[in-house]
Amino acid sequence: MWIQQKTTPAPLDELQGRTVGLKFECNQCHTEVFTDLLGVPAADHLANSTEDDGQFETEEIKCPGCDMIHEITVKSTFDGVTFEVSEVAPESVEYQVQA
Ligand SMILES: [Zn+2]
Repeated sequence: MWIQQKTTPAPLDELQGRTVGLKFECNQCHTEVFTDLLGVPAADHLANSTEDDGQFETEEIKCPGCDMIHEITVKSTFDGVTFEVSEVAPESVEYQVQA
């Protein structure tokens, strides 16, 4: 089941430590791009910084339509999980949690 990302972070409890696949529409050629499976990092309980900058996982994927390189960031904070794809609107990103 694909879930469209909202403008608010996705629930950390449902995603932390899980594996997700993402799909998004390329902003340049409008091809639907599917990523490899990505691990969702745990929000860092040990961080003693007061900055809540969370944990990151980054990947690059090449659009099969136009060869544009998209940078993907999975960001976990205690507020939730955000999937960022460079130059693509958050609402154009969908995710699927692996069983
Ligand atoms: Zn493209």
